[in-house]
Amino acid sequence: MEKDVAARAGVGWIGKNTCTIHPHIGSWLLLGEIITTVSLPPDEPAVDRCGTCRRCLDACPTGAITAPYQLDARRCISYLTIEHPAPIAEEFHAKIGEWLYGCDICQDVCPWNHKAVAATDPAFYPRFPTGTLDLREVLSWQQTAYSTTLRGSAMKRVKLPVLQRNAQIVQRNLTATQK
Ligand code: SF4
Ligand code: SF4
Repeated sequence: MEKDVAARAGVGWIGKNTCTIHPHIGSWLLLGEIITTVSLPPDEPAVDRCGTCRRCLDACPTGAITAPYQLDARRCISYLTIEHPAPIAEEFHAKIGEWLYGCDICQDVCPWNHKAVAATDPAFYPRFPTGTLDLREVLSWQQTAYSTTLRGSAMKRVKLPVLQRNAQIVQRNLTATQK
């Protein structure tokens, strides 16, 4: 995996939440590679700075981080809402909460991310006016609205039926909290 190469190249260590963590910008980063024949001096591997912290393990709503540095993707909301095309097991529905697509809890709670500066490149800004999508609109989307709204977005990794499957779970969760 490229994050293992990144750790060996000194970019950042692999944290207990299994993300690459850079000491200045936390895990809010994108890894990229340049393939070259140029001879370069190797950097020192990154040093693990998680220490005794276990915030990510304690905060994960589904217990997907089963041990430090160990993630069971079958329990992870990011995996379930993005990569898992089949129906999501009932035991995870309430725990999905309001996560329509992916989940950032184990990164939000990481103290190394609290030091990260905000992005200055508009390309990294939220693309929807409120920073998120309107759940009712997503539920009513036909293919054209889905394609137009998400044109050029990584969210198109999920097809419309999968996004609406997620939206139905979120809607039930929101209804349950309003009762
Ligand atoms: S992304 Fe969410 S569900 Fe997945 S391990 Fe992190 S906190 Fe848990
Ligand atoms: S929350 Fe704590 S234990 Fe988890 S990755 Fe961040 S520093 Fe490491």
